[in-house]
Amino acid sequence: MNKAVFFDRDGVINHDPGDYTYLLDEFIINDGIIPSLKKLSDNGYLLIIITNQGGIAKNIYTHDHVEKIHKYFIDELKKSGIGLTEIYYCPHHSDVEKCLCRKPGSLLIEKAIARFNIDPKKSFMIGDKQRDVEAAEGAGIKGIKVELNENIEKYIDKIIAG
Ligand SMILES: [Mg+2]
Ligand SMILES: [Zn+2]
Repeated sequence: MNKAVFFDRDGVINHDPGDYTYLLDEFIINDGIIPSLKKLSDNGYLLIIITNQGGIAKNIYTHDHVEKIHKYFIDELKKSGIGLTEIYYCPHHSDVEKCLCRKPGSLLIEKAIARFNIDPKKSFMIGDKQRDVEAAEGAGIKGIKVELNENIEKYIDKIIAG
């Protein structure tokens, strides 16, 4: 079975200014992300992003905006020799329509676990909100709560050290 680290996107992977990020110009990769993902990848962890993008349901932006940003991020990682396993996003918002995939729901994490044969006990989720930790725990994964836009390298070293 595989081990994986799951990441929330906004506020962990990229700078979250406290509002929706959907323009490529506003997508700024946080300090420490590239070396962190490189270390995890070199140590055999799958890398998976699980993100709520409720701005789609609210008609603030579209799937195209989200996919453009994700393509950019995947390409940036490739330049550093890092392969991202998958990005899952929930386009819904509870104010508009209920769903099972929006965090704190665990559905997207569970999908990834099944698809990539992941052992939850050897896996982690890093997020800046309590709902990220709840989603992780719902799928049997250890959740690590970090500060908004924090450099996460120290947590990565702990994960690798076991
Ligand atoms: Mg976040
Ligand atoms: Zn959803």
